[in-house]
Amino acid sequence: MALDDLYREVILDHYSHPRNRGALDPADIKVEGANPLCGDELAFYLRVADGRVSEVRFEGHGCSISQASASMMTEQILGKTLEEARGLIETFKAMMRGQDPREDRDVGDLVALQGVRKFPVRIKCATLAWVALQQGLEEYEGKKAEAKATTEE
Ligand code: ZN
Repeated sequence: MALDDLYREVILDHYSHPRNRGALDPADIKVEGANPLCGDELAFYLRVADGRVSEVRFEGHGCSISQASASMMTEQILGKTLEEARGLIETFKAMMRGQDPREDRDVGDLVALQGVRKFPVRIKCATLAWVALQQGLEEYEGKKAEAKATTEE
């Protein structure tokens, strides 16, 4: 089987059987993202315990690439520290810019999305989930810093 076909199957598998689908209420991090060019919409819900992603769910609709990327991302960040999650965001974004992931970084099924680089208009579909996660992490850290400042006053 050609590599492109294999990658296509991995993407379609995540699209038709999304991992960690649903919502969490309450959630420590709730963030939404949209890609109007393609009509992709995503919402992520994360719970954080001891600095790690203890639970993660997502909802959304759109093209197979956006939904598969979201499903893969939830699989990859579950159990990771927020720091590791940020590292993964950087690795993924670099991969979509054309860099191959470092050999010591296990990116799992994400490697299947490398093929999307050949279609520049679809790159936003693949990165939508990651941009949303980055925003969610920033908001979470911001709120935490604010709460800390208030307690210390
Ligand atoms: Zn799309």
